[in-house]
Amino acid sequence: MSSLFPVGPAGVAPIAALAAELAAADPSLPVLGPLAADSPHALAAELERCSRDCFDYSPVLVPLLRGRRADLVVRATRLAHVLLVAGACARNGVPLTLRGAGTGNYGQCVPLQGGVVLDLTGLKRLRELDDGSGVVEVEPGCSLAALDRQLAPRGRALRLAPSTYRSASVGGFIAGGSGGIGSIRWGFLRDPGNLLGVEVVTVEPEPRLLRLDASASQPLNHAYGTNGILTALRLPTCEAVAWQQLVVGFAHWGQALEAARGLGSTALELNALCLLEGVICRDLPWPAGCPAPEGEPRLLLLAAPAALEALPGWLRSQGGRMLWQAPQGEGRGLPLRELTWNHTTLHWRAQHPDWTYLQMLLPQPEDACLTALRRRWGDQLLWHLEAVRHQGSARLACLPLLRWQGPEALAALIEHCRELGAFVFNPHVLTVEDGGLGVIDADQVAAKAAHDPAGLLNPGKLRGWLERSG
Ligand code: FAD
Repeated sequence: MSSLFPVGPAGVAPIAALAAELAAADPSLPVLGPLAADSPHALAAELERCSRDCFDYSPVLVPLLRGRRADLVVRATRLAHVLLVAGACARNGVPLTLRGAGTGNYGQCVPLQGGVVLDLTGLKRLRELDDGSGVVEVEPGCSLAALDRQLAPRGRALRLAPSTYRSASVGGFIAGGSGGIGSIRWGFLRDPGNLLGVEVVTVEPEPRLLRLDASASQPLNHAYGTNGILTALRLPTCEAVAWQQLVVGFAHWGQALEAARGLGSTALELNALCLLEGVICRDLPWPAGCPAPEGEPRLLLLAAPAALEALPGWLRSQGGRMLWQAPQGEGRGLPLRELTWNHTTLHWRAQHPDWTYLQMLLPQPEDACLTALRRRWGDQLLWHLEAVRHQGSARLACLPLLRWQGPEALAALIEHCRELGAFVFNPHVLTVEDGGLGVIDADQVAAKAAHDPAGLLNPGKLRGWLERSG
């Protein structure tokens, strides 16, 4: 094999045996690998592309993940393909990493031990929408936007979506995401009720196809595809609302923070609330027609039409000035949601590549924590807040932008945030647990033992499994 294709830890013989087995079983199965007839350089670039996600927001992850590459990429378009690949990987002892749109931020779909990357974006059928309950069953590769387009004519919409809604897949969101647009109403993906069931393929010599109910599905929710291949998801939907996008300016940060907090205790229906400090606003792209920022903090809202009678007056009473309003649609312009959540980081890093970010849930009241952080870290840390519902209560999450000053400074900042009572969700780590609350979830590990007994799925990403097997 050419040096363009250094075979990963899986080894040359098992990869060759696997490729031969797949080709014999289904010659039409799209497989990319050194045995394919394409130009070696084009192939190497494609293997590289399918082995990456958006981990480059983290200067800690970049050196850990650089150069990790699949030996084969298989593009499944049918359930039968998934069963075939799962069985062949199990029989040949080859690692298997699942991939949706590859927009994750923590290297979730980077194959740490090479092997197969299984691209599931071709498995994208809407199987069922129950008009009575609004429950939908959909295959994992369907993009969130494509799913919403199919729900809209029936008056339904997804409850939750990441700001990468236009590209991200349903399966990748459930396995790798946490929340985003809609979290102000529906909380986080792992909150009971946001995932109603899954169909899952096991990775065994004779793979099984299982259907799990809501509670049995929970260990596969946000497990980075380490404990089962999701081939269908059952999700609740909500009534479709013609959300209005609003940009509101404030003269002072304190007023803007007070308004962001206050909105959580009104009956004004919102689907997103993002608060950005003035310095950040200056370097973001704004939708056409929205006035250029003059250094003022801005509140970005998605509001229901019914909220529009009372909302402007309420905002004025808090010192807010309405700067821009437009319906959210499928138009070509920049939607406001693409200035929120990690899109804020994306746009900021486009101008300031030496910056990164952190994620946390702020303690209440938020001012003391923010003031203490500002006092110690000054303008190395810039405020970006998002309203969420956490365990039934209105809370503010924070995705501050952070000037990169090395891993020691990052560790000191994380410790400081925790001392101040914030829950930190560290985006600079590889495992499910370390990116969460640091706690091993025995149910996730048990699901891996049941569905992937040889530990082939996305190796290195579930700390509970690594520690279990010593
Ligand atoms: P991928 O990145 O392809 O995969 C994510 C994980 O899911 C991987 O571990 C993969 O192995 C696993 N996986 C994929 N398919 C399956 C399957 N069928 N079965 C089992 N496991 C599977 N995230 C949020 O939660 N909220 C946000 O608001 C948000 N904003 C973002 C903004 C930007 C600019 C960027 C770059 C990222 C953002 N993200 C956000 C992260 C990411 O976009 C989302 O989590 C997205 O939903 C991931 O979907 P994907 O299809 O790209 O998944």
